[in-house]
Amino acid sequence: MKKIALHWKILLGMILGVGVGVLMTQFSGGKELVQDWIKPFGSIFINSLKLIAVPLILGSLIKGVSDLKDISKLSKMGGRTIGIYLITTLIAVSIGLLLVNIIKPGEAISAETRQDLVQNYSSDAAKYSDAALKQKENGPLQALIDIVPENIFGAATENKNMLQVIFFSIFFGIGLILIPEKKSKPVKKFFDGFNEVILKMIDLIMLAAPFGVFALLSALVVESPSVGLFKALIWYAFTVILGLFLMMVFYNLLTLLVAKVNPSTFLKGISPAQLLAFSTSSSAATLPVTMERVTDHLGVDEEVSSFVLPIGATINMDGTSLYQAVAAVFIAQAFGMDLSLGVQLGIIATATLASIGSAAVPGAGMVMLVIVLAQAGIPEAGLALIFAIDRPLDMCRTAVNVTGDATVAVIVAKSLGMLHDPKVEDRS
Ligand code: ASP
Repeated sequence: MKKIALHWKILLGMILGVGVGVLMTQFSGGKELVQDWIKPFGSIFINSLKLIAVPLILGSLIKGVSDLKDISKLSKMGGRTIGIYLITTLIAVSIGLLLVNIIKPGEAISAETRQDLVQNYSSDAAKYSDAALKQKENGPLQALIDIVPENIFGAATENKNMLQVIFFSIFFGIGLILIPEKKSKPVKKFFDGFNEVILKMIDLIMLAAPFGVFALLSALVVESPSVGLFKALIWYAFTVILGLFLMMVFYNLLTLLVAKVNPSTFLKGISPAQLLAFSTSSSAATLPVTMERVTDHLGVDEEVSSFVLPIGATINMDGTSLYQAVAAVFIAQAFGMDLSLGVQLGIIATATLASIGSAAVPGAGMVMLVIVLAQAGIPEAGLALIFAIDRPLDMCRTAVNVTGDATVAVIVAKSLGMLHDPKVEDRS
């Protein structure tokens, strides 16, 4: 059992979870049994991942920024990194929006099921359009104000405020660069060790992943949506996966054209990280492997990879932003809402920000989707629609997130003349 790779164990957990879920729906009282005795273990698993998000961002970003050693390097590399990250994210959201508008997965829902949906969720819908109205009252620069926390502990206690934690961490890292080395050394050492501990904790949590997904999936099956939704969900999943596939093609083209890295070298170099991302659904958990592969197998200078990748794992989530755009419009379609061009443009902005704010842990993209929905006036209750198939999509989008980070690391390294011959050549 020990020798079986984690992603196979997770897959086994998923299959068994679905099996037990289906079995339990056959008995009266089976649903309650799963909800009372199995689901809590799934919740514990999810909670432990959420628990680790804030310390992880603090640790990896403070380390990443302070490793840069001087401010001019930071601003040059930082400017390029953030700029390219933003462009790839915008491209991803636009691909998502385009596909969901062409394929229209939400329209596969029958009129009857739609009526049930609207009826069931109408009170929530009213609540959320209220919330969206309040957001509008806040003024155009509120999002900017929200990035700067007035209290770091306050920001760290709410998983919604990841951007504030990022802001604090970068600011702290800059402070660390600016003080004399004698004083900064012990602090840097501390955060180095702190980071290691957090990554080890993630390893430990991941050991429980097969049991966690087993519990979550069996609970999902007994609480699963009506059959009327099934066809629409398949179309929705297809739309997301097609978009993610197009992003993968885009990355290969980009590295080929800009950095002259041929696709087979790129894919061979990065594939272990992609697989790990797929099986853990966490860019953060994958980060150590991404760093090693990008540095040793793709030839990116360590100074670039140790800055670009931790930031990328935290803020650059192309797969997530694409998924959020598709999911938001899908939910709107499912509720029979027509989204104006203005609202869709708003989705581009909010999905970009929401993906930046998503923690690099499983399911985070779906949690942050709430912001996109609230801003666009789409009922948040629609999350229940997509929850059932979020995990497999999370696996796919995380693989894309990690590939996006690696791509940008290669491009930034190339632009700074810091892309070398790989230390390790990959064989097929
Ligand atoms: N699981 C994703 C990641 O870690 C985030 C998401 O839920 O989309 O990259």
